[in-house]
Amino acid sequence: MIELNLRQSWISTFLRCPEQARQERAGLVQQQESSDMLRGNAVHYAIEEAGAAKLSGREVELDMMLDAAERYITDHAAEVDVWRTDINPLVETVRANVECWHTELNPILFPRPDGIERMFVKNMGIREVDGYDLPVKLNLLGTADWIDESGVIWDWKNPSRHYEAWEKKRWDIQSHAYTWAHGLTQFNLAVFAKGKLQVIEIERTEEAQNAFVEMCWSIVPTMLSNAPTWPMRWEGWHCSPKWCPVWQAGRCRGQHLGQDPW
Ligand code: SF4
Repeated sequence: MIELNLRQSWISTFLRCPEQARQERAGLVQQQESSDMLRGNAVHYAIEEAGAAKLSGREVELDMMLDAAERYITDHAAEVDVWRTDINPLVETVRANVECWHTELNPILFPRPDGIERMFVKNMGIREVDGYDLPVKLNLLGTADWIDESGVIWDWKNPSRHYEAWEKKRWDIQSHAYTWAHGLTQFNLAVFAKGKLQVIEIERTEEAQNAFVEMCWSIVPTMLSNAPTWPMRWEGWHCSPKWCPVWQAGRCRGQHLGQDPW
């Protein structure tokens, strides 16, 4: 038996550019830590603290959340490789987003979450794959930010601006993965941008989840191949020295175009 693990976030990378996904999976490159990640992680951390308070029956205090977020920034700022904003505006945005969660989102959540930061590994079946003698077992891995007692899965996002809701509803991968893994249908994105909340409610029906499983299996032959490179997908924002770690490492297009091509 060949066993393959498929991380939800890696599926999205694969769909943007298979070659980037190959190099990340092989450990040849890794994403640089950016101030954008620090902003999102600090807000996540504060919400985790709030979740722990709710689970133990305590009040969720805004000051406690703000302290947690600032502590996270202090402890992790030195790990940032790429600063896309100064620290002071970053702290202001984190505080505004945490306050937004506390005042606008917390009141609509159930008193106790069913789970926070819950990791999952779920088997997607065992199949024969053309060209291989052994059957393949495929597992899906991920971590759900918050599962509400109402049965809604919530995910927290901290981008620089709000999303186009129709795009997320039409092709977002994470919502398919998490609803399928938990046997639920409702996935809500809570998007915090400069202290403003956007909620995108996404329903993933059984049909949508079945389609997702087939999409995951469609990746398997490529994952099993010994090809020295996988298809390189240039089209899109991701293929640039700003976003692609392969390019940043001076490989692929970065080998030919350098770090300042445009
Ligand atoms: S440089 Fe572009 S084509 Fe090459 S791995 Fe990165 S995203 Fe893919």
